[in-house]
Amino acid sequence: MASVSLKNICKVYPNGFEAVKDFNLDIEDQEFIIFVGPSGCGKSTTLRMIAGLEEISSGELKIDDKLMNDTEPKDRDIAMVFQNYALYPHMTVYDNMAFALKINKVPKAEIEKKVKEVAKILDLEPLLKRKPKALSGGQRQRVAMGRAIVRNPKVFLMDEPLSNLDAKLRVQMRLELSKLHQRLNATIIYVTHDQTEAMTLGTRIVVMKDGVVQQVDTPENLYNYPSNLFVAGFIGSPQMNFLNATVKIVDNNVSLQVGQHSFALPPAKGKKLIDGNYNGREVVLGIRPEDIYDSEVFIETSPSSVFESKIKIYELLGSEVNLHFNLEGTQITAKVDPRTTIRNGDTARFAIDMEKAHIFDKETELTIT
Ligand code: ATP
Repeated sequence: MASVSLKNICKVYPNGFEAVKDFNLDIEDQEFIIFVGPSGCGKSTTLRMIAGLEEISSGELKIDDKLMNDTEPKDRDIAMVFQNYALYPHMTVYDNMAFALKINKVPKAEIEKKVKEVAKILDLEPLLKRKPKALSGGQRQRVAMGRAIVRNPKVFLMDEPLSNLDAKLRVQMRLELSKLHQRLNATIIYVTHDQTEAMTLGTRIVVMKDGVVQQVDTPENLYNYPSNLFVAGFIGSPQMNFLNATVKIVDNNVSLQVGQHSFALPPAKGKKLIDGNYNGREVVLGIRPEDIYDSEVFIETSPSSVFESKIKIYELLGSEVNLHFNLEGTQITAKVDPRTTIRNGDTARFAIDMEKAHIFDKETELTIT
C-alpha cells in the first residue's frame, strides 16, 4: 500500500472555471480518507486528478514519493470504484473480477487463486457464475469492489460507491467497507456527500467548499472542534443551531446577548473573547441540538442559560425527539430524550450547555472558541 501527497494542487477547467484551489494533503499509508462537501465543491475533480482521469493544472501529485502528474492512469497502480459499478454485463462475476488480470497476462492459475480468495472475502463465492443482471444492487457493488481488490493496487479511489443503494443496503455496505479496510490495510480515498458515511468510515475527513479545503481532521475533532462556521453547519444532523449575538464583558464576566436573552459564558470560553477584544462586537453562537436540554435537572444547574419557547414542531424519530421552536426570531432545534412530555404548542423551558457552545467571528466566520 502507499502514501499519497497533494501539494498546491489546482484545477482550472478549459472554460476557465477554477474547480480546485491550492489543495494540500499528505495521506499516509493505510489511511481511509474521505472527501466530503456539498455538490460541486470539487471532490470528484480532485479524485479524478489523483486517478489521472483529469489533468492537474498546477501543483504536485506524488504516490509513494514518486511524482505522478504526467503518469498514465494505468501506470499509477490505483483502482477506482464508481457509483455506477461499470460492470461488463455480458461477463460472469468471475470474468468481471478476472478481467484486469487477464489483460495484464497474469497466469491463469494465479488469476483463479486471486479471484477465489477475493470472492471469499466479499462473500461472492456462490455468485461467481452469474451475470450482473442476475445480482442485487449490493451484490453488484461487491463485485465492483472485488474487481478493484484483485488488482492489489497501492491505492483505492472510490467515488460515491454506495449512492445507488437503498438506505438499508448502504448501512450494510458501510460496515462491509470498514471491515474491508481493516482486512486489506489499504489506503482508500473516498468521495461522498453523505456525512454519515464520512463520519463512520473516515480515519480523517477533508471538508471542501467551492474548491477550497476547509478542514482536515478526524471525525471526532471535526464534530467537536469545527474550524469555521461552514464546517460546523455541514457536519452534524440535525445541524448546529446558529444565533447572532453581541458580546458583553463586565469585570471579566462574559455573556452573549441574543435579543432579550443573556447567556453567561464559562470562564475558559469567556477568556478567548476577552483576549480577542470582542466586547460589544457581533459574533455567531453555535449550539448543537443535543446541547439544549429540556430536563429540569440541567435547567436548575444552569440558570444563566435558561429560556422559554413555544414548540412549533415535535418530531419523534424513535430513539430521539427533535423539538423545533423559535428563539429571538431564529428557528432552533433541540434533540431531547424521547420520554419528554413536551408536545406541539406547549411552552417549554430549555437550558443550553454553554460549556459546549461554539462561537464564531461574524466577519471571518472562523471559530473563536
Ligand atoms: P458532486 O457531489 O455533485 O459530484 P463534486 O464536489 O464532486 O460534486 P466536481 O464534479 O468535482 O464536484 O465539480 C466541481 C466543479 O467543477 C463544479 O462546479 C462543476 O460544475 C465543475 N466542472 C466539472 N467538470 C467540469 C468541466 N469539464 N468543465 C467545466 N467545469 C466543470
